[in-house]
Amino acid sequence: MGRILVVEDEAAIAELLSMNLRFEGHDVRVAATSEEAVQAVHDALPDLVVLDWMLPGESGVVLARRWRTEPRTRDLPIIMLTARSDERDLVQGLDAGADDYLVKPFSTTELMARIRSVLRRRLPEALESAVEVGELRLDPATRRVRAGQTEIALGPTEFRLLRFLMTYPERVHGRPQLLDRVWGDHVFIEERTVDVHIKRLRAALQTAGCADMIETVRGAGYRLTSAPSGGCLAA
Ligand code: CA
Repeated sequence: MGRILVVEDEAAIAELLSMNLRFEGHDVRVAATSEEAVQAVHDALPDLVVLDWMLPGESGVVLARRWRTEPRTRDLPIIMLTARSDERDLVQGLDAGADDYLVKPFSTTELMARIRSVLRRRLPEALESAVEVGELRLDPATRRVRAGQTEIALGPTEFRLLRFLMTYPERVHGRPQLLDRVWGDHVFIEERTVDVHIKRLRAALQTAGCADMIETVRGAGYRLTSAPSGGCLAA
């Protein structure tokens, strides 16, 4: 599931949110100030941020605006929380780059629904739905990958990598993008790590004759394709 950062200085709300998010299977980190939030995003890029407007020091709006201007965080999905229901605030929040907006007090059920909806739109690989490309089927709920009747055994990183590639088939992904989206943190990992895991993934896929589904695009990165014949020779 997704990595979610909760930025909220009110401990009771932060606790309630992280409890509910963990229950839904998300990996949660809490930040109580904008400095802590900046540090958390620096350590590991989350899949989504629940961002309180009113924080001690720098406000959530300022933070959202800054994230929108930086290439690494430009597409970070943000759901803003505020105690103020003023229409001008709503406009200002959305202008700052929030994807969605909730006014306190809100129901956690409502927030969970909004989070699912933003993730579905912005980051389908963070949800538990199965993906199929050609003869390949990956099910995050059971952690199984099959090509036809053949089950393919994958390590956790190769599983996440394949899941990402299958969620966006036929598109070319550069190594920095794969690091951000699959590893979640491009700060401490070298780009050639991607090549190592692609090699392992190809070796695993080859047990079902599907290694050719992963193409190297010279100077650009990698692509998963089902062309020309469903991708798998033996399945
Ligand atoms: Ca607050």
